[in-house]
Amino acid sequence: MTNELSMKNITKNFGAFQALNKVDVTVQKGEIHALLGANGAGKSTLMKILCGAYDEYEGKIYKDGEEISISSPKEAKSHGIGIVHQEVDVALIPSLSVAENIVLDVQASNKSKTFVNWKSIYKKAEEALSLLGSSLSVKKNVVDLTLSEKQQVLIARAIVQNVDYLILDEPTAPLSVEETKQLFSVMRELKKSGVGIIYISHRLQEVVDICDRLTVLKDGRYVATKETSHTSIEDVITLMLGTSSVKQWVKKSVEIGNELLHVEALSLPGRLSNISFHVKEGEVVGIAGLVGAGKTELCRSLFGLEQYVSGSVRLKGKKLKLNKQPYYYIAQGLSLVPEERRKEGIFVHESIADNLVLPSLSRFTNYSFLKRGKIKEKAQKTTGQVGVKSHS
Ligand code: ADP
Ligand code: MG
Repeated sequence: MTNELSMKNITKNFGAFQALNKVDVTVQKGEIHALLGANGAGKSTLMKILCGAYDEYEGKIYKDGEEISISSPKEAKSHGIGIVHQEVDVALIPSLSVAENIVLDVQASNKSKTFVNWKSIYKKAEEALSLLGSSLSVKKNVVDLTLSEKQQVLIARAIVQNVDYLILDEPTAPLSVEETKQLFSVMRELKKSGVGIIYISHRLQEVVDICDRLTVLKDGRYVATKETSHTSIEDVITLMLGTSSVKQWVKKSVEIGNELLHVEALSLPGRLSNISFHVKEGEVVGIAGLVGAGKTELCRSLFGLEQYVSGSVRLKGKKLKLNKQPYYYIAQGLSLVPEERRKEGIFVHESIADNLVLPSLSRFTNYSFLKRGKIKEKAQKTTGQVGVKSHS
């Protein structure tokens, strides 16, 4: 009997919407197994089931050939299953320290001790972080961390749990190249020690480099399981999209027009100095730099989210005022998709429609009344255009 963790025939409904339809996936001990699929394919939902986030679903889960029941996080942990969630903020307690967040799970299930041994907590947390090549201070509060540091805390938390199976849901998205390399070396170590890893990522080159096998989902259904050594990136894309015309994703040539945005000598005390660039109509301009280089601050400075910005910014030839509130920049025609979407980009408890129209609410009101019909119509159109997967 091989040592493996197996999900069979998993079906999950959210109300009338079927997020998963009879999905199978099996990960062996000592294997790195990629779980792939386009946005909305059901990857996170499947993994949430495996770590006990949902108690209502159909299908069975087997560990080493024996059926096990998983309907709570506690049960999942008792079977040696750990997860690093995709949405970093949901899994951390901001007002606690790095160390406390790292040992949270082991501490919570540690019934034998009444007193907290801070020395051992700090030591454990430091060890886990140093494995990741992180020099993060364990006494810092999580609320003060950057996104990539928060991700390191979550990965460290998984490491201290000594799990048999580890799920990593898009862990490298906020990490730098160096941090990613370090994570991969940790994954290889865990693999050597017999841990089975399920790895979700959209960076297909990474997947092919580090994973042994991959399973592809599409629209909540199982598509295929392959050995990565016999699979090309193009094969994977074809499986994910269900079409062999990868060509449709090739860059289309666009007429480059007049200058739209002109930034001159933009500075932010202590963070940015003398940044100049411009963007023309029809252009996509990339901003590159290591973590901490100032990319995020540059965007925030252009959008009124930093203070004491100096320099000159022109939009379509018109000089913009600096250090105004974001609504001023929105009215001028700028838009920002922030780094931490859940925390900075949306109101999670409000509907998709309300979130979409919020920055331009004045166009959807009649005196002080909301035009619900118009809002709904706009939301349907926009979600269709950008391919948002949702059932209402
Ligand atoms: P992936 O991780 O592959 O991008 P998800 O598992 O997050 O996909 O989502 C699969 C589908 O299930 C999506 O259409 C999503 O909108 C829906 N979904 C996920 N979680 C919920 C939920 N808690 N309630 C309702 N629908 C959900
Ligand atoms: Mg997901």
